[in-house]
Amino acid sequence: MRQFKTESKKLLDLMINSIYTNREIFLRELVSNASDAIDKLSFKALTDPSVQLGEEDLAIRLSFDKDARTITVSDNGIGMTESELDKNLGTIAHSGSEAFKDENAEHQGADIDIIGQFGVGFYSSFMVASRVRVVSRAFGADQAFAWESDGIRGYTIEAAKAGERDGAADHGTDVTLFLRASGEDEDLDKFLSEWGLRDLVKRYSNYVRHPVQMMATKSRQLPKPDDAGDDYTPQYEQYQELETLNSMTPIWKKRSSEVEQTDYDEFYKATFHDWEAPARTISFHAEGALSYDVLLFIPGRAPFDLYSKDYEKGLALYSSNVLIQEKCSDLLPDYYNFVRGVVDSPDVALNISRETLQQNRQLRAIAKRVERKIHDELAAMLADERTVYETFFENFGRGLKFGIYESYGAKAGDLADLLLFWSAREERWRTLGEYASAMKEGQDKILYAAGDSRERLGKLPAVTSALGRGYDVLLCTQDIDEFMLQTMRSYRPVTAAAEGESPVEDARELELANVATADLDLATEEEKSAAEQSTKENEALFEAMVKALGEKVSAVRVSANLTDAPACITAQGPISLEMERVMMKGPDAGMMPKAERVLELNAQHPVFAKLVAVHAAGEDDKLALYANLLYDQALLVEGLPVDDPVEFAKNICSLM
Ligand code: ADP
Repeated sequence: MRQFKTESKKLLDLMINSIYTNREIFLRELVSNASDAIDKLSFKALTDPSVQLGEEDLAIRLSFDKDARTITVSDNGIGMTESELDKNLGTIAHSGSEAFKDENAEHQGADIDIIGQFGVGFYSSFMVASRVRVVSRAFGADQAFAWESDGIRGYTIEAAKAGERDGAADHGTDVTLFLRASGEDEDLDKFLSEWGLRDLVKRYSNYVRHPVQMMATKSRQLPKPDDAGDDYTPQYEQYQELETLNSMTPIWKKRSSEVEQTDYDEFYKATFHDWEAPARTISFHAEGALSYDVLLFIPGRAPFDLYSKDYEKGLALYSSNVLIQEKCSDLLPDYYNFVRGVVDSPDVALNISRETLQQNRQLRAIAKRVERKIHDELAAMLADERTVYETFFENFGRGLKFGIYESYGAKAGDLADLLLFWSAREERWRTLGEYASAMKEGQDKILYAAGDSRERLGKLPAVTSALGRGYDVLLCTQDIDEFMLQTMRSYRPVTAAAEGESPVEDARELELANVATADLDLATEEEKSAAEQSTKENEALFEAMVKALGEKVSAVRVSANLTDAPACITAQGPISLEMERVMMKGPDAGMMPKAERVLELNAQHPVFAKLVAVHAAGEDDKLALYANLLYDQALLVEGLPVDDPVEFAKNICSLM
């Protein structure tokens, strides 16, 4: 017996033992796999001239045996070799296993909806079956193999028995489920019936593109015998007929007015292995020189691997009913990488390779339209489903920000109005436009603070004094934030337009400014001239302090902005303190340029008077001590490490 990989075992165990509320999805998972296998074979036939498909119809067959308590899902798709059986069915959740291990602890014991979350499709069989037998013959292979498992200990792979896919044209796969015994789980009985299976297919697999068929018992009236009298009661006979259970028209070819949202939801869940319905569904069509049907989904939550390097973006690309590429990445910009969906166009050349796909003009035209549609849908969601959008943004906002950053701001025009920021004053999410329209008279900058926690940012002297003066401050806590805002530099509010008109751009170009910048100008004229005055009067003091601080700061000056705190650190030049903090986390920390720091003092604070007095008395050592203490303390408040903690501790002691 071969063993399941360790994490597979854990997952299987969790799945079988969790009271999974939606066991019936097992069939949809098997039908999807069968459909994929048929797709793979059609694609192979298309691209490889040596593959000649016979006349047989490609289809998925369902059958059941009430007495033996089995359900079999068969396909005549590409099949699996012995080693593919081992690789594909021996490792559960190939891509997700690592992530699963990490999340496992959290989920332990809960009624977990892991099915689909980790792509464990096939294994959902074990929710209803105590044993599963998979007989598969790879296309062109001279032998079929049988994989079998109870889903607990491990699995076996042997040559298939006589009669099991033993003809040369018998390529494809039979998955037979031995349902758990009755009594143990009464409700499984309903699956062992024609209506039960028909119902499952209708609900979960109606839009599978290949026929899902079953031999069904029908009844028909017998012809009335010639000698029948007037009191003849009609006679019926039963017969067997192959019935196609699903509608087969791809759901993306239908107009959205003909499709129920629940159908879209089921299609989405089945196809993209999500266990939650999408937040938004977008369907659109084009006819003419370039025809296409597009169906897109904005997921409700981020897949567990969205921000890992293994995540592959892309839309499924079909042409003339053949799946060309499962994840065509050229159809989606990186910042919309979370969007799932399908593009189907007969005009996209069929036998194109990956390289030529990139060059494909038609594809580029479709991609452009896709991008526009996603943008408009997000804008609509922001406008009319605010809370849903906020959840969306918490999940996917980072990608949008990267879009602006990586395009050097070129995409800001499209993306800036989709961003949300936390308002310190209002304590809720605001768009830049909302911030702009709530600005106080005369304000010409959008103020933000960046750091690692909202709570800490809210207490920064620069933030509290800006708030005290009636300016709102956006609190940014993602690493990308400041880099993105700096590439954007400014924002031009767009006034929403009346229907049918294009939005009007505001004349104002608002600079995006970090509140911890040295030249920020929030104070009143009076405060400013007072600050200037005292800077002038105390030039000698500041010179002495710069000297005492050595390389650490490029200037010491009086700030007109500070209200409560005695001092703060600001940065001047292109690198802000936040950028420095983020870069210090990177691998090349040692080589990164540092922010040019300025120590700003509050001339109204008692500490300032003390500095003046110490300097006037010529107590140079004391002045140096105070200067260093103020500097280190201001660093700590900013959330930055002090340069020399030992020195800092010593200084505090000497003060005591
Ligand atoms: P997923 O479908 O998400 O990849 P599954 O656990 O359902 O995960 O299936 C694992 C793999 O087994 C599939 O990716 C496919 O390669 C293979 N497989 C499953 N069912 C079939 C089938 N009916 N025919 C051919 N290959 C199959």
